[in-house]
Amino acid sequence: MTIPKLRRGDRLVLATHNAGKLKEFQELFAPFGLELVSAGDLGLPEPEENGTTFAENARTKAHAAARGANMLALSDDSGICVDALDGQPGVYTADWAGVPRNFANAMQRVEAELLSKGATTPEQRTASFNATLCLAHPDGRDVLYVGKCDGVLVWPPRGTQGHGYDPMFQPEGFDITFGEMAAEAKHSWAPGGKGLSHRARAFAQFVENQIEQG
Ligand code: IMP
Repeated sequence: MTIPKLRRGDRLVLATHNAGKLKEFQELFAPFGLELVSAGDLGLPEPEENGTTFAENARTKAHAAARGANMLALSDDSGICVDALDGQPGVYTADWAGVPRNFANAMQRVEAELLSKGATTPEQRTASFNATLCLAHPDGRDVLYVGKCDGVLVWPPRGTQGHGYDPMFQPEGFDITFGEMAAEAKHSWAPGGKGLSHRARAFAQFVENQIEQG
């Protein structure tokens, strides 16, 4: 059984305790008249993310929030997969930045591991950003939307925009990194369009398939 399409006025819980993620999703959903409240604001506990895939972690977060709030819940799980490192850091992308998060160190680690593999040419330094959205119903139904953006890893990092690993990721077809790109360009998407960033691409799928149009 699928989850029916969402309509204007519907309220969902965003399975996050991160205020930045809530703001980003509120902006994405505002044009559709959907109201988002976060799991953090509802005082729900944060489930442990111990899956080995983005889908597993996205499911864990969405189902915990849907059950806890007895409402439809949306989660996202994302990260960067480096081909020469057999897909690492993948679901451990945030962990590579340590606690407290330090993404300059995380990028340095990626670079050191690439060099240890002798990966110096663009062809040897391919990577992808990945995002998986999960919409879960309190009764256990769920649906996933996946977005991927391919690119190459550059060194040294370039640009001050964006966050995380953006300054070392140059998306395919561009000669600037996500760190050198305005947010509107990085997240660009249009109804029926594909978007650029992994999250924009997953969101475009979500809008097309899961939101009642018109
Ligand atoms: P999550 O909150 O468990 O999904 O953590 C995903 C991690 O992936 C974040 O901490 C970021 O480091 C990284 N990440 C995800 N999307 C992006 C992006 O668009 N740019 C840079 N880093 C990202």
